[in-house]
Amino acid sequence: MVPSVFLDKQQLISQELEFDIYYNRISQHNLDDILEMAWSRGIREAKRIKHKNIKQLIREENIIVETDEKTYNLNYIIFSSYESKEKKITIYKKNIQNIFIPSIPDEYVLWRNYEKVIDLFLTHEYFHHLEANYIGVTSEIKKIQIKIGPFIVKRKLRSLSEIAAHAFVKEFYDIW
Ligand SMILES: [Zn+2]
Repeated sequence: MVPSVFLDKQQLISQELEFDIYYNRISQHNLDDILEMAWSRGIREAKRIKHKNIKQLIREENIIVETDEKTYNLNYIIFSSYESKEKKITIYKKNIQNIFIPSIPDEYVLWRNYEKVIDLFLTHEYFHHLEANYIGVTSEIKKIQIKIGPFIVKRKLRSLSEIAAHAFVKEFYDIW
């Protein structure tokens, strides 16, 4: 599977939606508008700060960065995470080395470098930090109609935040 950040906009959005637990239950007529809202938030925030260095931005915000050297679980593949209460980013080194890097497409071969690719994850999680502390969590801005049996209920579509974060990274590093 190609990592979302190396897909084009439409493929990226489809892949992230398919990962969402509510994927088969979405019953929202203007979903495209909402997806566009999520995408454009990521692009907008990146344009504002992409001239800066991500490690510098992280230092300025006093975000802790930890590397997990151990976790390697093929049933639950995680590459990085952000914990807002602790203001902490965790990088899962083994998964990145063994799973992420080998799945980078040939046209983006320059990213097949551990030190370089870490910046992608730091940037992705930095966006979640912006969401948690400054701009609001994308998936909470607009709830989505979901079908549960005969009922239509509103739920957070977690993938909206992911789509925004991937757009942020793509714009930040011009991965087009
Ligand atoms: Zn994320």
